[in-house]
Amino acid sequence: MARHALRGLLAIVAAALALLAASAAHAQPIAPACQATATLSSDPAGAGATAPHWRCDGSIADYRAPRALLRFDLPQTGEPPAYFTTRASTFGHIVVSVVDRGGAVRSVRYGMSDAELIGSGLNFVLPLPRITESSDHVVVAIDGAWVAPVVSDGRLVTSPDDVRWPLETMLALAAICGLLCMPLLFDLAFYRILKAPFLLWHLLSVLGMLALTLVSSGLVLHLADLTLWQVSLLLPLTSSIGVGAAAVFAADLFEKGCLPQRTRRLLRCFAGITAATSLVQATRLPMLREFGSDVFYFAFVPLIALFSLALGQAALRGSRAARYQFVACMPIWAIALERIFTNLGFGDAPHDQIFAFSAAVAFQLVVTSLGAADRFMILKHERDRAREQSLAMEAMAERDPLTGLLNRRAIEARFAELQRQGFDTMALIDLDHFKRVNDTHGHQVGDEVLRVCARVLRADGDRDAIALRLGGEEFMVLLRGSGTRQRAEHLRRAITQRVAADLEGLDAPVTASMGVIEVPAAGLEGTSFADLYARADKLLYEAKEAGRNRTMHERLTLFGGGERVHRAAVA
Ligand code: GH3
Ligand code: MG
Ligand code: MG
Repeated sequence: MARHALRGLLAIVAAALALLAASAAHAQPIAPACQATATLSSDPAGAGATAPHWRCDGSIADYRAPRALLRFDLPQTGEPPAYFTTRASTFGHIVVSVVDRGGAVRSVRYGMSDAELIGSGLNFVLPLPRITESSDHVVVAIDGAWVAPVVSDGRLVTSPDDVRWPLETMLALAAICGLLCMPLLFDLAFYRILKAPFLLWHLLSVLGMLALTLVSSGLVLHLADLTLWQVSLLLPLTSSIGVGAAAVFAADLFEKGCLPQRTRRLLRCFAGITAATSLVQATRLPMLREFGSDVFYFAFVPLIALFSLALGQAALRGSRAARYQFVACMPIWAIALERIFTNLGFGDAPHDQIFAFSAAVAFQLVVTSLGAADRFMILKHERDRAREQSLAMEAMAERDPLTGLLNRRAIEARFAELQRQGFDTMALIDLDHFKRVNDTHGHQVGDEVLRVCARVLRADGDRDAIALRLGGEEFMVLLRGSGTRQRAEHLRRAITQRVAADLEGLDAPVTASMGVIEVPAAGLEGTSFADLYARADKLLYEAKEAGRNRTMHERLTLFGGGERVHRAAVA
């Protein structure tokens, strides 16, 4: 079943990726021609005495510098750009300046609250100052950027539509979010059946990743009116919740004995550290900015390394869970490593990594769901088997080993329920002079007599009679329905006949005495097993006293609280 589900899943992911590949961006944004870093006291338009050292070889300015400057050449023909756009994350200020050929400069200074999120992809736009015929270039000064893409993704566009992701892309991402809801439902449904903590950790990791996909795709803006501040805090928070919970989930999922206890503890510990690092980074304390983002990305490295180690250890010890984790994590590992490296400043951050990332996340979560389902089935099977065993033990404790009949303990616990079900007659049967049978023919023959007696009383197929052995040669039959007294009497007599028929060589017939007590519905309330047993025992004693091989019967009726007893004897 898991194999079929996996195949179906791969098909869905492949379809989503194909859709994504087909959806190429439409208009060409203008990339910066030169970049530079500068101090906050420098001219944000990049002019004057403190002119920066421009680098025009395509290298990207260090976002950790107090100020990163991007210089864009304006196109000679076509529609001039109207917006500056970049990745939605935290920054201090952005000053956008249009510099004319004569040296005139028009600047606008923006804060984070001025940023307009476009809700389709994770970019925001800021309007450019007026561009005229004599405008030469645009300089954007980015102060206090928190992550590399704020600088590396800076572009000029004619319209916000130029950076808006195509509809197909958004639909594919929405489909991925929909796909992520399935593991949520699985986890909840499974958790109702089996309270295994790994299901909750999986649920939390899916929630974290679902939120991350919603936020990093901009889809969340269609659901809630979030500011750039909120979005840039949600990004590290959701990703660390997702990854941290996934690590704890993995630590819990590996079977007992498949992961050294130390690795399990370390994995949980590092998951906590990674989540805590993100929390600290989310405070956006100015003193953390210079290495805040690096620490955030580096915090994932030991966690991923430890997780890989755990996976290797568990796989070597034959863990089934490790196989699912391995398949699940391959795409996300590749992308996460690439993301970490690009964010640390190695190589360019490709624009479309979010697509691959979301698809990989969905793949990972759905495959780990299969892993969780697999583990769930195994644990459930183990639990059911343990339950069956304990039920079997219980059942054994409720049966008499010699005859297989229920014992007193079995009936006493359910007596009230049996009364409600209409069992209103109790017949207590004791074999007469049984000691003599033992003495004359031996204990084994005595045992055989008891077994025959049990077979008679069991009256197979009769749902209206329940037989039990109280101990020794004393039996009880509970009856309901019509003619209970006659049926009990019939059973008592049948004992003598069946013993005579089934056992050869007995010197005398084996007879039984019986005390029968009947309590019709009106008198049922408040009559305990012990009450009735005591009455039946008294009747049995009377039957013995009266010469054995007979029945004493009593019918209990309650009239206005007074008790009447109808007595009868059958010999
Ligand atoms: P009464 O008619 O007064 O009931 O006489 P009795 O001999 O049947 O009663 P008593 O209580 O004196 O003796 C019961 C005997 O049942 C004594 C004991 O050896 C025997 N007995 C009890 N349990 C078993 C058993 O499991 N197997 C066998 N073979 N005998 C048993
Ligand atoms: Mg007896
Ligand atoms: Mg007895």
